[in-house]
Amino acid sequence: MNLRSQTRAFVIRAATMSRMDELAFRLQTRLKGRYYGLVVGVHETPSSLEAQFRQQLEWVSKRFTITTLDRFAKLWEQASQGNASFKPPVLFTFDDGRESNYTVAAPLLESFGGRGVFFVVPAFAECAADQALAFYRSRINPNSRPGDETCEDWKPMSPKQIAELAARGHAIGNHTLSHERLLGLSPAMLEQEIGTSARKIAAWTGRPVDGFAWTFGWDAVDANAWRAIQRYHRFCFAPCPGPIDGRVDIPALLWRREIEVKYSPAEYRFLYSGLVDLWWSTRRRRLRKLLQVSQGASGA
Ligand SMILES: [Zn+2]
Repeated sequence: MNLRSQTRAFVIRAATMSRMDELAFRLQTRLKGRYYGLVVGVHETPSSLEAQFRQQLEWVSKRFTITTLDRFAKLWEQASQGNASFKPPVLFTFDDGRESNYTVAAPLLESFGGRGVFFVVPAFAECAADQALAFYRSRINPNSRPGDETCEDWKPMSPKQIAELAARGHAIGNHTLSHERLLGLSPAMLEQEIGTSARKIAAWTGRPVDGFAWTFGWDAVDANAWRAIQRYHRFCFAPCPGPIDGRVDIPALLWRREIEVKYSPAEYRFLYSGLVDLWWSTRRRRLRKLLQVSQGASGA
């Protein structure tokens, strides 16, 4: 264990023992009330962790309403006022389009009355069986070491499985055509990675592709890319944690907190509490500024 993960473990243990995580959660819900929502980002959901994921969802469902993208969008409607038994909505999103999301995550979410947003990569989905691992290593997870990955890490969902998820009420989002880093791309490349990808997914699902999630780090985006994203998508999800406040945030720049299914109860409770968001506030400000999203801008 290095110093960073030791510190992280210490902070989580201290917050859990002092019940600071539960207090922070209540405070966050009370302050923002009916305007508050949360988006969670997940990657692989292997069957070996299915029971652990169900346990996390059971804990979550006592504090949040596990929702759908359509219902989450109501955060920006004034109509939801005055609900005394308010439980904030939480939206689960899954990046890269692994088959384990189709086999494990989708049915689990359905059993909790929710639906996910699956950000797929068309070139990955179209990989032949003997090309998927090479694509995964070179495009999706360059840090992956041979021998580290199991088949469930790198096996993609097929276009047919993607279409089936859409028909079952899940949202299929765009995660670029080939898992490209968008920062500094030419307009032609942006059109290819965002526009061509959106058209391909829409042809598979027969539905508009409302959501987009950019690849890699929180700052792997620029104003040109963001404008191209907005031409095709209503919702853009950033890999940058934060609470979503319907009075301040807009659908074109939504914060996402990464909470993987492998995390322990102490870890995920800490992450759901929102305490970690404090560390990210400078980055949220920088992203807003970079993309010229002013606070207090109206929704839609
Ligand atoms: Zn990705």
